[in-house]
Amino acid sequence: ILEIRHLSKAFGKNVVLRDIDFSVKQGDVTCIIGASGSGKSTLLRCINFLEEPTAGDIIYHGKNMMEERMNEAAYRAKVGMVFQSFNLFNNMTVLQNCMVGQEKVLKKDKETARKNAMYFLDKVGMAPYINAKPRQLSGGQKQRVAIARALAMEPEVLLFDEPTSALDPQMVGEVLAVMRKLADEGLTMMIVTHEMAFARDVSNHVVYMAGGVIVEEGEPKQIFGNPQSAQTKEFLSRFV
Ligand code: ATP
Ligand code: MG
Repeated sequence: ILEIRHLSKAFGKNVVLRDIDFSVKQGDVTCIIGASGSGKSTLLRCINFLEEPTAGDIIYHGKNMMEERMNEAAYRAKVGMVFQSFNLFNNMTVLQNCMVGQEKVLKKDKETARKNAMYFLDKVGMAPYINAKPRQLSGGQKQRVAIARALAMEPEVLLFDEPTSALDPQMVGEVLAVMRKLADEGLTMMIVTHEMAFARDVSNHVVYMAGGVIVEEGEPKQIFGNPQSAQTKEFLSRFV
């Protein structure tokens, strides 16, 4: 679905991504791991064009998105993003949060948008809260609404940037459980996470980044069980 080729990103003179290359196939669950500042968020933001890449190509279904930009909102429906800080619309109810993008971007009529929103809110266990405002919800509940909102846009790929790191420990599990279910259903996902047990269990591809480059990538069994690079070993040793 997605191919990232020679992607680089600099902020002024600060080069934060260098020559990043990898591809995502239908149904892949790719976990991106690495220390703070290694460029993980910037990579996801470039894939989503929330940041403009400095160089390189992003190929989506064989089309180079760097050359022929489709409408960014339409692209972001297809390659959706779930943020650490939820980014819900605080003045809207849970249901409205999950409808507005469908109506504005996908031009769905209200009834279809509502049905779709209800379907995905039910999937993440948030159907009882449709009339609540985000501030009335716990962090885990907010994140599940954010996931339902992203799903309601019918993405082909969903990007997650540390979806559980703003949550109290007791709420991490409920969000990871939803993500695990989506993985089992075959949703293509790219997940930046520090939840190593989750990455090992749920992903089929792990990318370890440091200093803006991919140091090592492979199957979770290999990365976690038998890392080749000393840097990867050292990084993972902090999590045992
Ligand atoms: P963390 O685990 O802390 O979230 P990360 O791997 O996601 O880290 P990034 O947020 O991608 O790291 O940041 C990589 C580098 O890019 C950092 O040195 C950061 O200071 C720099 N950076 C990120 N965003 C910007 C920006 N908008 N302007 C300037 N520099 C930035
Ligand atoms: Mg980050």
